[in-house]
Formats: sequence, structure tokens, C-alpha cells
Amino acid sequence: MAYKCPRCGEPVQRGHSTGAQVAAGLVGALFYAAFGAFQCTKCGKIARNEFAPEDRAKMTTNSVLMVIGAMVLLVGVLWLVSG
Ligand SMILES: [Zn+2]
Repeated sequence: MAYKCPRCGEPVQRGHSTGAQVAAGLVGALFYAAFGAFQCTKCGKIARNEFAPEDRAKMTTNSVLMVIGAMVLLVGVLWLVSG
């Protein structure tokens, strides 16, 4: 799921934070990836509202899917731990 930078057309990457991963583990990293900012290699950080409406709709869908994935993962881990 690569998006194009609205400024230069280069592909953007999702931002990531090692700090968030250490603090909250895999679930925290997933949440951060779902809602974090996008990063263009040329322009730096790109705000969500700079993207085209259809790209923003895709991002929202992907974010929801990622959060659902994180929840399923969390429930699975809790189930394993408690069982
Ligand atoms: Zn760019």
C-alpha cells in the first residue's frame, strides 16, 4: 500500500518510531503505523490532508483494518496468556 507524495509524486512511507515500539510493543507499533504521519524521502513529513480524497479514504480503510488486526492480536495474546 504505497501512496504518492502530493508534492513531488515520489512514493511515501509510513512514519515509524522505535520509541513507540519499545514503549508499547507490537500493538503500539501497529497503532502508530495506522495513525502516524507519512514520510516522503524528498519533502519530509506529509500531512494527511495534503493527500487526494481517494487516497485519504484508502488510508482510513487501511487504518481501521490495522486496528482490527491489532485488537485480534491483543485478544489472541491475552487468550494464550490466560489459558
Ligand atoms: Zn515529496
